[in-house]
Amino acid sequence: MSPIPHYVDGKTVASVSGRSQPVFNPATGESDKTVPLASADEVNTVVASAKAAFADWSGLSPLRRVRVLDKFKTILWDRMEELATAISAEHGKTLDDAKGEVTRGIEVVEFAVGMPSHLIGDFSGQVGGGIDTHALRHPLGVVAGITPFNFPAMVPMWMFPVALACGNTFVLKPSERDPSAAMLLAEWLTEAGLPDGVFNVVHGDKEAVDTLLHHPDVKAISFVGSTPIAQYIHATGTANGKRVQALGGAKNHMIIMPDADLDMATNALMGAAFGSAGERCMAISVAVPVTDAVADALVEKLTPKIEALKIGPYSDGEAEMGPLVTREAKERVLGYIDKGVEEGARLVVDGRDFRQDKQGYENGYYVGGTLFDHVTPDMSIYKDEIFGPVLSMVRRDSYQDAVDLIHGHNYANGTAIFTRDGDTARAFSHDIEVGMVGINVPIPVPMAFHSFGGWKASIFGDHAMHGMEGVRFYTRIKTTTTRWPSGLRDDAQFTMPTLG
Ligand code: NAD
Repeated sequence: MSPIPHYVDGKTVASVSGRSQPVFNPATGESDKTVPLASADEVNTVVASAKAAFADWSGLSPLRRVRVLDKFKTILWDRMEELATAISAEHGKTLDDAKGEVTRGIEVVEFAVGMPSHLIGDFSGQVGGGIDTHALRHPLGVVAGITPFNFPAMVPMWMFPVALACGNTFVLKPSERDPSAAMLLAEWLTEAGLPDGVFNVVHGDKEAVDTLLHHPDVKAISFVGSTPIAQYIHATGTANGKRVQALGGAKNHMIIMPDADLDMATNALMGAAFGSAGERCMAISVAVPVTDAVADALVEKLTPKIEALKIGPYSDGEAEMGPLVTREAKERVLGYIDKGVEEGARLVVDGRDFRQDKQGYENGYYVGGTLFDHVTPDMSIYKDEIFGPVLSMVRRDSYQDAVDLIHGHNYANGTAIFTRDGDTARAFSHDIEVGMVGINVPIPVPMAFHSFGGWKASIFGDHAMHGMEGVRFYTRIKTTTTRWPSGLRDDAQFTMPTLG
């Protein structure tokens, strides 16, 4: 078993915590490496390194900072295959899907390279006689990112390119389930010319996270993961005086109106429900056909496609969907399928039956695509985020019933409507209480220059990720009011100063 090190002060550092856990290849169920679980002392050392690097890094001109990111971006394009392979080998997603993840991450680097423009301040001349005011964004200091397993490269890249370009230094605590992508990112940042200590990786579990949450030198926490942990991170981080943006779980609905192109909607549902084995926070896990006729037609079109899904290891170029990330994740998803049957939903396609017979992959964590029809809002397969290849269909009779259904759910990350009617689409986009909306687009992940974030139990904190929301999160405004002596000094004034 080869141990994965931390990355501190521009180099790899072996852990001395004495705690570690295996990292598995979900395609085979085998493990040949371990990830360390940092002690509080180790985390303190990492934060100290980031703190020491802050003065010089934040003192550089933004243009000098983004030149490093520009070089980093070129390395990412050149080594896409290597990074994607590292992701797939620990996450399980197909290689093409991993490349898509890296590309979406690179787009944030591209946005961050434009930071000198994004940091242009405000200026008001002559706010009073001979007095001007300007406002500039300043970095916060050491900021930390705590990230989930499902996008081990993209989600860290939602955070650190923006944070670094703004002048902060960064401590990343990646998911312990697929930690290797973070190590490549750290090494390549150093290769691109990032000064030592500006970007660090510390591996760990609750102990490492809690140390970051309580550390006085950590000024902001960006978190992406499940809702209970997001809520905990937000409550604990803000109680310790930090800025916190904590993105949580999801249950994304897609409404299919009677006038929708059903073939288009079917293909959209296949990709959005089963891509990445459903382990995406923007996966569509609930299809909401409006009218029984639409539901019946959809079931007919979806069933053969789900049964024909090509499920295999990432090394199989034909595979459309890989395994789940861990044995526990697989057991959890199988448990939900059992529960759906017990709760009375109609199991149309049963993914529990899937067996991987490719030699060497029999023990991987595969679950087949699953379709439930006649799911109702009281069932746990509707209420909970399953995070697997399970699509639930909740039938509704009208557009308004479908909207009311979505409004009744706790999560509000993303949603979509498929229709040919502009009026319905426009009303949906305006009225729906969900953070990211797709019109005939099933996974409406905003581009890097917009911002990513849901509403309700899908986010805790005030700022979404990347785009200008990211810039606002990673900076604080300083407003300076200036008056230059105009020659003769006025006499001393003893009344309250007023402008004008
Ligand atoms: P998770 O909440 O289990 O873990 C996320 C991070 O929190 C990891 O780094 C983990 O080490 C840490 N963590 C776990 N338990 C902790 C604890 N008790 N105390 C402190 N830290 C802890 O999430 P996951 O299983 O890695 O990722 C899947 C979840 O992430 C899903 O719910 C998915 O919807 C969500 N997600 C949301 C978005 C979004 O943008 N809203 C994006 C991606 C993933």
